[in-house]
Amino acid sequence: MKTILITGGTGFLGSNLCYKLITLGERVICVDNNYTGRMANISDLLSNPNFRFIEHDICEPLKVDNEKIDQIYNMACPASPPAYQGSYAIKTTKTCVFGAINMLELAKKHKARILQTSTSEVYGEPLVHPQVETYRGNVNPDGIRACYDEGKRCAESLFFDYHRHEGVDIKVIRIFNTYGPKMDPNDGRVVSNFICQALSGQNITIYGDGSQTRSFCYVDDLIEVMIKMMNSPADFTGPVNTGNPGEFTIKELAEKIVAKIGGPSKIVYKPLPKDDPTQRRPDITLAKTKLGWEPKVKLDEGLDKTIEYFKTQINLFKKAE
Ligand code: UDP
Repeated sequence: MKTILITGGTGFLGSNLCYKLITLGERVICVDNNYTGRMANISDLLSNPNFRFIEHDICEPLKVDNEKIDQIYNMACPASPPAYQGSYAIKTTKTCVFGAINMLELAKKHKARILQTSTSEVYGEPLVHPQVETYRGNVNPDGIRACYDEGKRCAESLFFDYHRHEGVDIKVIRIFNTYGPKMDPNDGRVVSNFICQALSGQNITIYGDGSQTRSFCYVDDLIEVMIKMMNSPADFTGPVNTGNPGEFTIKELAEKIVAKIGGPSKIVYKPLPKDDPTQRRPDITLAKTKLGWEPKVKLDEGLDKTIEYFKTQINLFKKAE
């Protein structure tokens, strides 16, 4: 049994990972400040003797003295554009940068392996398509997405410097758009917005003309590759793209969801936020060859499961803009 610390453990991905690792028989320490995470996501785990929750903001150093940590998944960060472009903008950069330093120091002290959940946003508005890990990206450093994009880029550089200079055992994955159960209905991202809008009979808000593309990965596939990466040979640090290469326009996504849910919702068009990437799709050759992984869940199947989940959450949904 390993002791595994997860920052951002009450968030969408973090809480899914907590459940999976507990199911696999590991001991889990879940750390979150609950700014965007939700205790409801881990409520079933709180009575489990192998599970512990620590309310903590990783912008501050964290001490865990009573047990040896074997692995750390560093996942804490607001990830939804409306969150990091709003009141959490500065906090987002701080969480990426101070959080990375504090968790890398913790990993160094415990001689733990640490995995950084980086992002497809390091590629910014990509001029190479699909995106390969060697592509260095096209990020606007002054734009409204920069707090997240540059924060995550800086976190990557910190990981590699702690690896080179301090001998810390690191792993870096770049996560592309992911969806599924435990998403916050008020998260503001496209899958949760469209499904909750359709379930509550509101209009579906496409930003821009809907021709921009994203590639959507179902959460179970992503959790699988995260664990594979964490347990891969030490000389494979990444960065490695983790996502589903199936690419769809936002208009196609809206039409799919309307067709599945039905009801009175109509598609309406709203202004496109600044710096919104026009295309995004991972090249996952590296994950395939190094980790023997590729996603299994098709968008239709994943959306059906996600719709069932949001039916149980729809009373929490506030109108999306
Ligand atoms: N989007 C949209 N309507 C919404 C929410 C998002 O059209 O209600 C668009 C958004 O402008 C972007 C895409 O959907 O082009 C994906 O947005 P999301 O916030 O889910 O993630 P991103 O990939 O931008 O981080």
